[in-house]
Amino acid sequence: MKKIGVLALQGAFIEHIQILNKLGVQTREVRLPEDLSGLDGLILPGGESTTMRKLAKMYHLVSPIQQFAKKRAVWGTCAGMILLAKEVRGEDPCLGLMDIVVERNAFGRQLDSFEENLYIQALENGKKKPFPAIFIRAPKLLSTKNKAKIIARLPDQSAVAAVEGRMLATTFHPELSEDERLHEYFLNLAGK
Ligand code: GLN
Repeated sequence: MKKIGVLALQGAFIEHIQILNKLGVQTREVRLPEDLSGLDGLILPGGESTTMRKLAKMYHLVSPIQQFAKKRAVWGTCAGMILLAKEVRGEDPCLGLMDIVVERNAFGRQLDSFEENLYIQALENGKKKPFPAIFIRAPKLLSTKNKAKIIARLPDQSAVAAVEGRMLATTFHPELSEDERLHEYFLNLAGK
């Protein structure tokens, strides 16, 4: 049985754990480097990336997560995506793992939070069913490089999800939607 860790320093980690449990997956809250041992994948939740970045450094998690990502699956949602990115506009990267360029709080105040139905081909088994995506002070996924591929876009074509090997990044909060397909997709990346 698969075991998935969720970085539990700050932010929406409980919601990820609830969905994973619903899918019958074992979970662990990750706060210290030793919590990573034996995991098949790690989720970096949404929240506040500046706070998470500070706490990750304080608890000496940065290099252990970088090592973990060489062999195991890692998924960053919203703030977690910012932690994953190799390039963050105007800031130093944190984990610097994924070949994506992101910009924090890029939708501005008027579009602080919104919901959008996304058609994500990678999630559809022949039938078209939109994924109800919730965006909260979301970052923008400006571009991908090398092996990173965009898998979801807004109707205006801006990228909102990407995959690179066993790494997944989403600018929105799939753990807040009543739709488990992205979590299932991640479990596939983590290996059966
Ligand atoms: N605005 C947050 C940040 O920059 C991300 C928001 C979120 O995770 N919902 O860290």
